[in-house]
Formats: sequence, structure tokens, C-alpha cells
Amino acid sequence: RFLSLEGGEGAGKSTQAVRLAEALEARGLHTIITREPGGSEGAEAIRALLMQGDVARWSPHAEALLFAAARADHVEKKIRPAVEAGSWVICDRYVDSTRAYQGAQGIDDSAILALHAFGSKGLLPDRTFVLTIPQEEGAARATQRDGADNDRFAARDHAFHAGVAAAFERIADAEPHRVRRIDATGAPESVTARLMESLADLLP
Ligand code: C5P
Repeated sequence: RFLSLEGGEGAGKSTQAVRLAEALEARGLHTIITREPGGSEGAEAIRALLMQGDVARWSPHAEALLFAAARADHVEKKIRPAVEAGSWVICDRYVDSTRAYQGAQGIDDSAILALHAFGSKGLLPDRTFVLTIPQEEGAARATQRDGADNDRFAARDHAFHAGVAAAFERIADAEPHRVRRIDATGAPESVTARLMESLADLLP
């Protein structure tokens, strides 16, 4: 099975990826965690290109192509083989992040989906969780991080992050079977419990 974790910065996606993997392993399910952009050797090289320099380094169209290229390699080399071998794959961000972030920069959703169809044969997760948290709370957590990820976060204004959150809401409304909103406030263990509950129909 293939799961993705989505949401704005500071929602706790990476923490929940680890906790969810532990919960699945405890049920005897072999689970791997991976992340975007990156996750394969080629895709990590593209990640480095995307994270270096400031956010204006790439035009929005070039950025959408780089994310699609990174994802194509990641799907082909890592995600699809693992799912076919019977593993559970948890991906920290996937195509819905490109729809939200590059969409917030004016790239058409239909164009992003067309690139995804070409690059990754349209592979979608069996379930996608959108972790939701009040924007101020997420911003406070994200600002505490160091490094390039935080630079990218800090380079965008409040309106941009609000646009990203709105895009995730639209995706969740449009695809209720695949995409579930998860309240990401409160204790990490409560969030993991909500994830497992919302996965119940997929568990063996
Ligand atoms: O939250 P995370 O560490 O996964 O995000 C890394 C950075 O990459 C964030 O600052 C986010 O704004 C940016 N990003 C992006 N477009 C994507 C995915 C992530 O600009 N499709």
C-alpha cells in the first residue's frame, strides 16, 4: 500500500511518518518511509538543485518540471518496486504538494496532473492524509527549524501559505475517498491514533 502525508509546514508530517511506520510495523506490516522532493539518488540530486539558492532561482514552470522529474525517478526506482513487493510506503509529501505549492504560484492543476501522468504514470496513493493545523501554530513550529527548508518557508508570505492551505482543502473536498483531513493539533500520539483510524479500511 502507498500512503502520503501532506500539509503546510510545521504540521508534523515527518514526525507522524515515523510514528505511523512504527504503528504499521507493530501490526507486522513491512513499512518504508520516504520523502519528496528526493527519495532516490537522482531525485535527491534534483532536491539539492531546488533547495539551493533563493526561491526565485527557478521560474514556476521550471520548478514544476523539476518536481515532476524528481517524482518520476522516485516512483520508478523506489515507490513502485516497494509497493509491488508488498511493502507499505509512507511518503512525506507527494503530488498534492506540487498541486498546492506550485499551484499557489500560478501553475494550472491540469498541467501538473498531465506531467504526473507522463512522468509517474499517474500513480496516486491509496490514501493521502492532509495534516491540518492553525496557520500561526504551523508557522511557529516551522520557524524553529534550521536550514534550507526553513529558508524556503521564510521566503513566502502569509498569503502564500494561506493559498497552499486552501489548495489542500480543495483537493480533500474533490477526492474524499483518497484524501482525508487529519487534525494535527494536540499530542503526537493522538495524531497517530487519528491516522490509524482513518486507515482502518485498508488494513489487513
Ligand atoms: O515541509 P517540508 O520540509 O517538507 O518542505 C520543504 C520546503 O519545500 C518547504 O519550505 C516547502 O515550502 C517547499 N516545497 C515547495 N514545493 C513543493 C514541496 C515543498 O515549494 N512541491
